[in-house]
Parts: sequence; C-alpha cells; structure tokens
Amino acid sequence: MSNYKIAVLPGDGIGPEVTNQALKVLDAVESVYGDIKFERELFDAGAERFLKTGVTMPEGVFEHCQAADAMLMGAIGLPEARHPDGREVNGDVIFRLRFDLDLYAGVRPVKLYPGVTSPLRDVSKGINYVIVRENIEGLYASRTGGCNVRGNVATDTIIITREGTEKIVNYAFKLAQKRTGRPIDGKSIVTCVDKSNVLSSYAYFRSVYDEVASTYSDIHKDYAYVDAMTLFQVMTPHNYDVVVAENMFADIISDLSSATVGGLGLAPSGDIGDNHALFQSSHGTAPSIAGKDIANPLATILSASMMLDWLGERHRDHKAIEAGRKIEEAVSNVLREGHYLTSDIGGKAGTTQVGDAVVAAFRKLFV
Ligand code: ATP
Repeated sequence: MSNYKIAVLPGDGIGPEVTNQALKVLDAVESVYGDIKFERELFDAGAERFLKTGVTMPEGVFEHCQAADAMLMGAIGLPEARHPDGREVNGDVIFRLRFDLDLYAGVRPVKLYPGVTSPLRDVSKGINYVIVRENIEGLYASRTGGCNVRGNVATDTIIITREGTEKIVNYAFKLAQKRTGRPIDGKSIVTCVDKSNVLSSYAYFRSVYDEVASTYSDIHKDYAYVDAMTLFQVMTPHNYDVVVAENMFADIISDLSSATVGGLGLAPSGDIGDNHALFQSSHGTAPSIAGKDIANPLATILSASMMLDWLGERHRDHKAIEAGRKIEEAVSNVLREGHYLTSDIGGKAGTTQVGDAVVAAFRKLFV
C-alpha cells in the first residue's frame, strides 16, 4: 500500500477550480488502483489571504509543505495584492518554496497533443520537448536583494554558481537519457540557452554546461542564444528534446513554448528538488475568468500526472508511475476526441465537464 501525503495549495483566481479537477482525478486513481492513497491536506495560502491578513503564507503552512511527500498547487496571486515596492505577493509562496526547499529544477514539458491546434503553420514534424529551468539562481535570485538608490537608480544582480549550474545541467542530461529523443529523428540532445555572447555570467553558465556535457557521451550537445531560441521555437520546434536555461530566460521561453502547443491551459510544470517537489500549471490565476467554470483544468491535471511520475520514481512505486502515464493518456484521449474542450482551445465545455471527461477517460483505460 502506498500512502502519499500531498499538501494542496489551491490558491487564488482560477486556482481552486482547476485544483478541484485534479483532485477528482486523484480520487479516480485511488479507486482504480486500490493500493495507492493520497492523504490530502488543503492549505490557505495566497493573495486573498494576504489581502485579508497581511500574510501570504503562514510559517505553519510552509512546515506542512516541507513535511509532505509532494505539493500540488493551483495558482497564486492577484494583481491588487502587492508589497509596498510593487512586487506581487505570489513570490512569497512560490519563491519561498522553491528557494527554501531547494526545488532547483523547473520542469516544463512542451508537447503538442493530437487534436490540439497549434498557431504554427506546419507542425507535421511534431513538438515534444522539455524546458528545464534553473529555478533558484539567475536573475530572480536578486528578487529581494536588488538595490534602489534614492528612487533614481535600480539594480538587480544575476547569480550563476558552479554548484547550481552543475545540478541543473546534470538534471537536464539525465532527463534526456530517460526520454526518446527529439521528434524529428529521435536524437537525444540537450540545448543550452544563454546569452554567452554578451554577458560573462551566461558565458560561465555555458562553460559549466560544457564540462557537464562532456560526461554524457550518449547525449548530443547543442547551443542557442536566447533571442535566436525564441525564433527557433516558432520555426523549428521539432529540433528540441531537452532545453536547459537560466531562471529568467527559461521563464520567458516557457510561455512562448506553451503558446505553440495550445496555450497556458495545457502547460503543466514541476518544481523539483532532490527531496521535495511542487507541481502546478504554468499559468497564473487568470482573475478575469475566475469563478465562471470556464478555465482549462488540463494543465493542472497534467501537473498531477507529473507528480505521480515523480513520486513513483522516488519511492520505486511502478504503479504510481503507471497511474501518472494513464492520466496523461486520458488527457490525450479527451483532447483527440475533442468533445470536451474549454473555450481557450476551441471548445464549449466547462471546467467541471472537462475534469469529468478526464476521469471517465481514465477509468475507461482499465475496463
Ligand atoms: P501571472 O503573472 O501569474 O503569470 P498572468 O495574468 O500574466 O499571471 P495568467 O493568469 O496565466 O497570466 O493568464 C493570462 C491569460 O491566459 C488569462 O487572462 C486567460 O485568458 C488565459 N489563461 C490562463 N490560464 C488559463 C486556463 N487555465 N484556462 C483558460 N485560459 C487561461
């Protein structure tokens, strides 16, 4: 019997709605497998809480997250919930968890599922790559450490360390070893995205990438400057397998990549460390569509699928790994059939209907 303690942070805006659908899918996993259980604890953290109490995430919630086997998050933040310097409060939760639990790898799969329309003209060669974002260094490490001189000068400092870069590049190469290569020819390849032609910090990132890459003879090396990368993601996305980049660059290219495969409503993510991991959609709280039962829950459901894969690998639980894959297969089937799609991907179904459709498709896989 596997019993996993999951800290659930539904958050703000559409967060609770999409999280509910993912929790329904976890219910289905429990009932189909019988010997996998999720002990869920729901925690109130986020912008609403900040507006009411002045605290975004109490210390006790952080400690519960730390003690959990994994964390599942909806989305956090509201435009009006800000610190006096203008920063949105979502960082109080997401950056706190990433930095203090050492969730150094931001893993963002970019996959075009059958039935999903890409805005790109020709996707016949497929899109299936993973962006591995260095999550706790880079420019965002300066989040509370930048300086503002008398309101006239503001600076932030990018942090690139050997240890952090080695860890993230190793993560990317190990991930490439587990995958089946890029869609166009099955070649296993890790692309280093940087701006090493301009800044010494990125040149250093690339030099550490080179050192690590030389220890993986089975995986090809590849490089792209970040500006060119945005063009390649649009023109030749089939060339990519695993992409590794500094924190802010990866943040930016992730949003672009999600647009090529159906938008933010289909973009899952994992913030993964050696001992803790948090799973959430790549999208924010989308307040303009909150409470209307129209948000796409698939990114959060796919994030739950990633969570099972991670838990399964960590605990050598092949059933959890299988359940994660079956959730993805169920999502893929719902998308291919096209009867239950939310409006962001061209359908008319509501959030709840899509969640129900995934549960039904999941159960069907075991009939
Ligand atoms: P953040 O700054 O937290 O990333 P944001 O406001 O920039 O938030 P999102 O909240 O992700 O960005 O939403 C941007 C737009 O994308 C929304 O207004 C909405 O139209 C669309 N969107 C995002 N997530 C979804 C979803 N799950 N389903 C449907 N549409 C979505």
